[in-house]
Amino acid sequence: MTAPRHPGLTDRFGREHRDLRISLTDRCSLRCTYCMPADGVPWLQRDTMLSTDEIVRIARIAVEMGIDEIRLTGGEPLLRADVVDVVSRLARLEGPAGRPELSLTTNALRLPALADQLHDAGLVRVNISLDTLRRERFHELTRRDKLTETLAGITAADASGMEPIKINAVAMRGVNDDEIVDLTRFCVDHGYQMRFIEQMPLDAGHTWDRQQMVTGEEILAQLRAEWTLVERSDRGAAPARVWDIAGTAASVGVIASVTAPFCGTCDRVRLTADGQLRACLFAREESDLRGLLRGGATDEELADAVAACLRLKRPGHDIDDPAFLQPDRPMSAIGG
Ligand code: SAM
Ligand code: SF4
Repeated sequence: MTAPRHPGLTDRFGREHRDLRISLTDRCSLRCTYCMPADGVPWLQRDTMLSTDEIVRIARIAVEMGIDEIRLTGGEPLLRADVVDVVSRLARLEGPAGRPELSLTTNALRLPALADQLHDAGLVRVNISLDTLRRERFHELTRRDKLTETLAGITAADASGMEPIKINAVAMRGVNDDEIVDLTRFCVDHGYQMRFIEQMPLDAGHTWDRQQMVTGEEILAQLRAEWTLVERSDRGAAPARVWDIAGTAASVGVIASVTAPFCGTCDRVRLTADGQLRACLFAREESDLRGLLRGGATDEELADAVAACLRLKRPGHDIDDPAFLQPDRPMSAIGG
């Protein structure tokens, strides 16, 4: 008989948490304008970063509590020198529902070197960020001339057998909103799944503007002008609404975190690279698991801290509330 899930994973609003996002580093090889400043990034101090043993211990406790999905992110998670070892250790954890499903979100630059090893180590699938197919634009948007390398990384992930390959793009007005159809067609042609994301107020420069944001409805209008879309009914707690593209084997998703929040079904909790647990991307409170770990806490005490963090989780992110305050950490230091 399987052990019951820990009651502490269910919050005050009845949301059962199943998905742990672990940031492996806040460092990155790109400088996407909606995420990081061009320079002067306030990096986390090295001695505050969790060791691999510390990450695996927290993940083990979370999985034993009932977390059954782990996504590795960052910053750029593939910049962590021992990322293959992290994957292989996390893939072997076991909870009441068996082994957790492991995935990773990446800018793909290190995938040509690592995709096969990661897949062999237990990485099932990847989400890859690609906001444009145009070289000059990629350079402006990420402040690095790396489109060719990113595309090579996508090809390497595909060749390694990871499945599905999801491509994420943040839609931005006057920047890449004229490529919504092109990016989707690229995915249709290659058998990848396209996901568009509404831009959220998580940039390091705090320049996000609600009026400027491309909405999910606008993205859909462009897609519908090109294809017939048939919405899937199996969304569950997933952030994306997904449509099958009629006449193709592909689907396209829209993550409308701002205009159509999905907080009511959120099952995610985040661990930063410096060991702070966050119940929400937009949380203003963090639980210091690193302090507990390094202070000699038992597994039970750490599980209690996870439960206490989730007890504080608010019903929604309140981006539309005039009193909304952007979190102090940029996306790259939270873990998207
Ligand atoms: N470096 C990896 C990557 O780019 O995929 C993983 C970390 S990145 C922070 C994770 C995801 O967050 C990416 O898909 C990125 O596009 C998205 N992201 C970053 N800043 C964002 C913002 N302000 N609004 C919406 N999505 C954002
Ligand atoms: Fe780096 Fe990802 Fe942020 Fe771009 S979105 S700067 S690739 S962490």
